[in-house]
This record gives sequence, structure tokens and C-alpha cells, in this order.
Amino acid sequence: MYPNNFKGKELFLSLKSDEKNMIMADNTNQENRNNLNETDFAFEESAPKKKKKKKNRLARFCKKFLTFIGSTILSLFLIVIITGTIVATALTVYVMEFMENTDDVRITDMEMSYASYIYGVDKDTGENILLYEVQSTDIQCIPVKIEDVPQTVRNAFVYAEDERFYAHEGIDYKRTFAAFANYFLDFYGTAQGGSTITQQLIKNITGDNDTSPERKIREIFRAMEMEKRYPKDKILEGYLNYIGFGGSARGVQMAAIKYFGKSIDELSIAEAACLAAIPQNPEKINPFANPEANKKRQEYVLKKMYENGVISTDEYHAALNEKLIFTNSEEYKALNPEPTTIYNFTQDENTDENTDSSTDENTDEETGEKVTPYYVDAAIYEIADYLMAEYDLTQQEAIDKFKKGGYTAYLTIDFDMQEYVEEKYLNYNNFQYAGYNKFDEQPQSSFIAMDYSGNVLAVVGGIGEKTTSLGFNRAVQAKRQPGSCMKPVASYGYALENNKITWSTIFVDKPITYNGEQWPSNYSSDSVNKNWSYSSIYVFNALKLSKNTIPAQICEMCGLREIFDYSTQTLGLDLVEERYDENQGKILTDIDYSPLAVGGVTDGLTIENLVNAYMPYGNGGVYKKAHLISQLVNSADGSIILDNTGDGEQVIDPETAYVMNKLLQQVILSGTGTAAQLSNKTVAGKTGTTSNWNDICFVGLTEDFVSGIWMGYDTPSTLPAYVNSAGVWKNVIGGYANSLDTDASYPDNENVVEAYFCTSTGKLATSRCPHSGSVGYYKSSNAEYCTSH
Ligand SMILES: [Zn+2]
Repeated sequence: MYPNNFKGKELFLSLKSDEKNMIMADNTNQENRNNLNETDFAFEESAPKKKKKKKNRLARFCKKFLTFIGSTILSLFLIVIITGTIVATALTVYVMEFMENTDDVRITDMEMSYASYIYGVDKDTGENILLYEVQSTDIQCIPVKIEDVPQTVRNAFVYAEDERFYAHEGIDYKRTFAAFANYFLDFYGTAQGGSTITQQLIKNITGDNDTSPERKIREIFRAMEMEKRYPKDKILEGYLNYIGFGGSARGVQMAAIKYFGKSIDELSIAEAACLAAIPQNPEKINPFANPEANKKRQEYVLKKMYENGVISTDEYHAALNEKLIFTNSEEYKALNPEPTTIYNFTQDENTDENTDSSTDENTDEETGEKVTPYYVDAAIYEIADYLMAEYDLTQQEAIDKFKKGGYTAYLTIDFDMQEYVEEKYLNYNNFQYAGYNKFDEQPQSSFIAMDYSGNVLAVVGGIGEKTTSLGFNRAVQAKRQPGSCMKPVASYGYALENNKITWSTIFVDKPITYNGEQWPSNYSSDSVNKNWSYSSIYVFNALKLSKNTIPAQICEMCGLREIFDYSTQTLGLDLVEERYDENQGKILTDIDYSPLAVGGVTDGLTIENLVNAYMPYGNGGVYKKAHLISQLVNSADGSIILDNTGDGEQVIDPETAYVMNKLLQQVILSGTGTAAQLSNKTVAGKTGTTSNWNDICFVGLTEDFVSGIWMGYDTPSTLPAYVNSAGVWKNVIGGYANSLDTDASYPDNENVVEAYFCTSTGKLATSRCPHSGSVGYYKSSNAEYCTSH
């Protein structure tokens, strides 16, 4: 079938002016000819009077007439040539445009096409809780293998929909042309549409019902590609399993059950033809909705089967006369008093509702459907990320694929924590700390928590009531500047792991020379004061007071590439290695001082990614990529598609993890993060603020889990008031974290040396050293004693 919006008229309008004239000239000729015919008629009436003169005039007329005919034919011929050229050119352009993206449709995309589910686990009972059932749950399908489809059933569908199916290569040119002609002239019957079974299958897999010429042409190429990839039987199998049969029923097996209460191998010829009649217009030609229309088309199907010699004359007539007993008939009910099928079909099956366990009953402003919670959105985005990479899809395609893909996903969410944090995020007061900040325009915030195996426990993507499903989830989608939160997972982390620094290595608080300038300034309340003290400072103090100068010096000392690799390869940070940016006309990279020393990274990081990088500092050095999905399963056969339940990888020395954890505890004990202290838990963490005050964040570890918070405006701009990120973190999760009655502890490490250090050298103090500082923690591989005293 050709679309109503086919651009035939536009093609005409786009003809050049002389070509238009030609068409008009043609019309003029037509008019002249009509006029001549009238003259001719008038002439004959007066014929008897002047016969000779008439002969001459007749000859002249004939000559003139033939000239007109000739020029008309010539004009028409030229128009055909010109139009043909234009169409061919247009087609070539389309071909160029579409050839590249037509090898992307897989039957496997469709094989699991039924409802998808997301489950959470009740941590008390261990039971699965259904959180989300995809919109298309009203699709019911029982896939069958082509070997199990009787030949009669295959024949019925092939001869109903695509009689040259076994001969063509995806496209039936005869029918495509007929459909094309039909679009303009409407002289063909429309019993068979322009689409082959292959094309219809493509349409179903891609969900692309757009009938614009562009889409049609793409579909044609995709069909040809599909025919190259799959044998005919595989394509027919996909078609028979996927097509709609009215209401919720998908696939021929489900249709057989729905309409006849039988399996496909029990269908008679008449019944098979009845089912084959449906796909042309499933909602209108199904025997429940319109028995007459179905019967009429069933007779057409039988005729096609007969004409093609797959049923005999006797079979044909018997089938025509067979009385069909449908499941909705009294007769059927009398014969089958107790339905054996578990499927409960009604004509109106659009009663599906999302089933999420979330307490809020918000409805989506746009769709009117119940709003999905943040964790369901985040889970769907995570699944989409996986499918995008696996099948080379766009995000939307991947989400669609999940929704109709027959997947079952199991989540890692801790519903107690989730509910607690969601509650906190409904109240704007929790984002102001100790009366410091009153905003005219409330900034936004996001939060994520994960256990030390990478299981995301809670995720909230914004302050206030959630009003949209699958909206922007800041926790997993907003890439923002980590600021000083970068330091432990870049410069300090690398240097400690590689024994370049210790707990008490002495630096001088002074800038480095970078691009000919002294850089970076330390934090100051006014951006004028660079706050360089030029005095000695120990590593643990530099970190807890968040001096910028020391990470800059560490970058200079250790090498940018090395630190970049540590952040990205060891701790999984999503940094930019190298990318040419057209707008800025230069190559962007995070292998530079600002990103690695003070967290001014090119694209920003999600709070999920940032918190994830801290995980090894709380579990003895093990990294596991953060995930909401513990397992993604193919519902059809129970096979596990994605499994995140395995162990993480030991990425850094457990001693490094131990010492860094102690360093991060200093931040909370007496540094920039004191507001995050908890009475029952030992918090380790780091504050982060960008120099322009666009982003603030905090990552906090307790013995039980690691979590982080971000605050800022969606369109980055300066926060107008001081925000204590550690305090906001505590407002949001502190009460919950503190209440956990677990015996969890940070991993102990017997090799780490706990000792006083010499205040003048920063090394482990001996009895000869005149002054010693507080207790520090040293890796056994880097615990040097002071030799200066
Ligand atoms: Zn000493």
C-alpha cells in the first residue's frame, strides 16, 4: 500500500518551468483535439454538398490530426522520460541515504517479543516483588518453531499475504508496482497489500509504521538484507510468531488458542485460512470483531490456496462449507464447559496498568499513566545501555526493545533505603544546611548509594515530586563537575598506590607553573585571594583541607598519563581521553592538570560513576561496576543475558585502600566534611566544590555502603549561597546510615603500619626524632623510618 502523503504532487511541482510548459502544452493539444472532433462532426453533416473540397479538407485535417497525435505522443514520451529521470535520481539519493542503515534488523530482536518485567527483591523474605510490568503486557504470545507449524498453516499464510514469498528476495516488485500504481490510479484490487511477508516482519520488528516513502524504501532495503541473512523458513517463523491477531494475541499459536481453543497442529484447512485472513487488519477482520469480514477474506485465502495448488478441489469446497466453531460461541462453550487454557481473552484488553510497588500514585502529566519511580527509570536506562552496545541501537530503540523484548530484570535496590531517601527528597529544607543557604531558585540534586559489591541500593534523580516516567534522571544521566571529589580518585589515589606519597609526606603549599602562570589557587571565599601559604603541609592535612596546590604538584611529579590511567582503568571513571571538538576547534582531553588535579573534567561525571570510583576505598581495593540490574533474563527460555552477580576485581593494593580510607576519615573528623559525622558509623568521605560554585558534591563511605550527593542547577550556573555538601549528605542519608544495625566494618589490614611520624621529615618517627606528630597509617611497602635524626 502506498501512503497518502506520497510526494507525487511535490514531484510535479518541482519540475522545471519548461517541463511544466510541456505538460500544459499537452493539455492544450488535448483541447484542440476535442475541438477538432467537433469540427469534424459538423463537417460531415454538410458533406453531401461539396465533396471534393471535403476530400482536400479531410486530407489536410488528417495530416493535422496525425501531427497532433504525434506531438502528443512525443510529449507524453518526453514526460515519461523526464519524470523517470527525476524519480530515478530521487531513488538514487534515497538509496545512498538508506543503504548504510538497513543491515540492522535481526529476527532475534523479535523472538522474545512479549512482556518485560522488572523485579526487586524483598531483603527480609528474599521474595521477588514485581515493580514494573511493561505497557505491552497485554501482548500474549506462545512462540513456535517453524518445524512445528503444519504445512497447511504455512500455506494459508503465505498464499494469503505473499504468494511469491518463496520466489522473491524480500521484495515482490510486481506487487510493489501494483501498490504504487494503485496509489495513483486505484485500479488494482487491494486483497494483497504491497508488502511481502519479509517487509511485514521488518515493520513489526522495528515498530516502524510510518508509511512515508523514505521509510518504505528503508523497509525495502532492510527486507533485502534480511533475506540475505536468513533462510525463508526462519523469516516465515518470525512472521508467524510475531504478527498480531487482534487484541492481545500475537503469533499463530496464540491465535489458534484464542479463536479455536486449539493448538496449531489441530487446525483444519478452513480454520487455518480463517486465521490467515486476520493479519491484513487484525482489529477489523478477526472473527470476534467481524465474522462476515473474516469469512469473506477466509474465502479469498482458500481460493488463493486452491489456485496455487496446495489444496485439492475437494478440500477447497469442503473448507468453504466447513462450519467454524469459535471460542466465543455458545456451541463451543457447550462443548468445552471448562476452558483448559489459562488465557482469559476479552475483546477489550486495554486494561493494563503498571504495577510498581512505589507508594506514590503520581500520574505522568503527558501520558496520564502512573509515574515510574527513579529506580525503575535508572534500571531501564541501564538495560538500554547494555542493549545499545550489544545491538548498536539508539537509546530509544534500546528502550523499545526492552519493553517488548520479553525480558525479566532483577534489581539490586534496597527498598527501605530507597523509600527513606525519596522521602528526604520531597522536602527542600533538607538541601539547606544549618540555615546557611536560602535560595531564590531552588537548585536540583541527585543521590545514589551502592554496597561494596556495586549493587545500587538507592537512587533518586531530583528534588520534589516526580512527575514524568523515564524522565531525566540526574543520578545516572547528569554529567557534572566532581571538583575536589576527584582528588582521592586521581592524584592522591595514584600516588599512594604507587608509593609516591605517604600519609605524612611533606609538601609546600605553593602553585605550580602551568601554561606560564601560577596555578591553581586554593579555595577562598572570594575568587581574588589565591590562598597560597607557602608553608609545609602533610598529605593528610592537604587532603582534609582540600588544598588544590598539592594535587597539582602530585600531577607534575607523577605524570598526567599515569594518573589518568589510574582514574579510568583502575577506578572506572568515565573521562575523555581525546576528542576533537568542532565548536571549540580543538582537541579536548582529560589528560591535563585541571581535570586530574582539581576535577575540572571535560564532560563531567555522573554521581553514579564518581561514587563507584570510591568503592575500593571501602572494601579493601575491589572494584565492581555499579549496577541496578543484578540479572537480565530472557523470559522465554530463562537464559541469563546479563549477570552482575559475580565478584569484583581487586584493582588496588588492599593496603592502599586501607590507608586511603583512613585519610578520608580525616576529612570527616577534622577537615571539610565534619558535618557528615555519624555517631554509630565511621564515615570516610570527600567534599567537592567547583571553583565557579556550579556544582557541589560529597561522597561518603560508611562500613555498610558508599553513597554520594550532587547539587547544582540543571543549566549550570553559580549557586548563590554557601552549601555544605557534607551536611546535605547527612540530611539525606545520615539517619538511615546511622540506624543500620550491622556488624559490618571496613576490611582490616594487618600489614599496614600504624605509627607516629617525625614532624620535620614526615617519615616514621624513631626514638631519636625530636618531635613526632599524630598517628599515621603507612603501607608496609612504603613505611620508611626517619634517618635524619
Ligand atoms: Zn625524624
